[in-house]
Amino acid sequence: MNVLVLGAGQLARMMALAGAPLDLNVTAFDVTSGNMIHPVTQTILGKRLESGIEHADVITAEFEHISPDVLALCEASGKFFPGENAILIGGDRRKEKNLLDNAGVKNARYHIINTSEDLDTAIKKLGFPMILKCALNGYDGKGQWRLKHQEDVTSTWHEINTFFQRSPRREHQCIIAEEFISFDREVSLIGARNAKGKLEIYPLTENIHHEGILSLSICATENEALQNQAEMMFKAIAEDLNYVGILAIEFFEVNGVLMVNEIAPRVHNSGHWTQQGAEVCQFENHLRAICDLPLGSAKQIRPSAMINMVGNVKISEDIMRLAHVHWYNKSPRPNRKIGHINVCEKTKEQLIETLEAIIPLLDKEQFPVLHEIKIREHLTSGKKNERP
Ligand code: AMP
Repeated sequence: MNVLVLGAGQLARMMALAGAPLDLNVTAFDVTSGNMIHPVTQTILGKRLESGIEHADVITAEFEHISPDVLALCEASGKFFPGENAILIGGDRRKEKNLLDNAGVKNARYHIINTSEDLDTAIKKLGFPMILKCALNGYDGKGQWRLKHQEDVTSTWHEINTFFQRSPRREHQCIIAEEFISFDREVSLIGARNAKGKLEIYPLTENIHHEGILSLSICATENEALQNQAEMMFKAIAEDLNYVGILAIEFFEVNGVLMVNEIAPRVHNSGHWTQQGAEVCQFENHLRAICDLPLGSAKQIRPSAMINMVGNVKISEDIMRLAHVHWYNKSPRPNRKIGHINVCEKTKEQLIETLEAIIPLLDKEQFPVLHEIKIREHLTSGKKNERP
């Protein structure tokens, strides 16, 4: 089968690698250059999206920020999963908030802002501090502002307007003001749903960010109560969307209660540990779901963690002896994800020991979170994440 992925980054690459044993031939459409690309070698395969669509048996996407014209073209082919609607919702925080409210899942209170008067209303409704997020094109913490005091309102509003001037679809932009959630932890749930509504759901993963970018994901501690809450919300959202493929949901944990932060209608960075830590990884399960093949088991086979490599990172052979290294064939740039390291062990204790051996081998400046976090304490005492 031929699968076309909208987007030619590492997620398309890892889908191609996971699809090869199933004889699934993955090509990618680079939405920036408009080229059809081989997602592993980055070889240019052609220029025409229309012929890519024609040759594909199935179409999917590796990210949400795709032009509505391209999405409509793919949707019209009848081969697009999870489809135009899910991708548009994932790429527009207004639509996303609507979905969460309709599905009846808990999420942060919010107010939509188009004018400075709306901002005054949001302040009255939500109070300080609040988070302001642009509706479109926001990812990895970009297009986001924290508003803490009344005296910062004018300068923040000015910053937002400057950001909008540079925004590609500025006439469709707006701001979502959200109440600030003092969360204990951030966790995510990743699961596959096929066209018959069958589900395979991975265990909850804890995520630790640095400046809006995921640094570390850990899947090593079972929590049945939280898992049940997350799965209920996953089912409500996936059914509402009649979703096919991998869906990721990011949550805030507050005193044992989960609130949805956002959804990603695609394979997700916090699910990379599944490559070595689960029976069938998220990339293969996404392909299985969209190609209407039987879903694979999402069972975790061993405690696992994933460390993102961001920027100009080099790692020693000692790390390769201890862990699984995945490079993305990308040239380094500040804040660019260029690879990840999966650390998997038979027991949680062994995982802690291996992480404790790896962390000193990683540069302090490039991996600040790993050097700040006391991994043993974090994983054994149930200590909550105190990072703001
Ligand atoms: P997002 O792009 O919405 O995932 O936001 C990026 C990061 O900002 C999240 O991972 C959180 O750490 C933080 N964040 C987002 N929304 C809120 C909120 N309402 N309250 C507190 N922190 C937030």
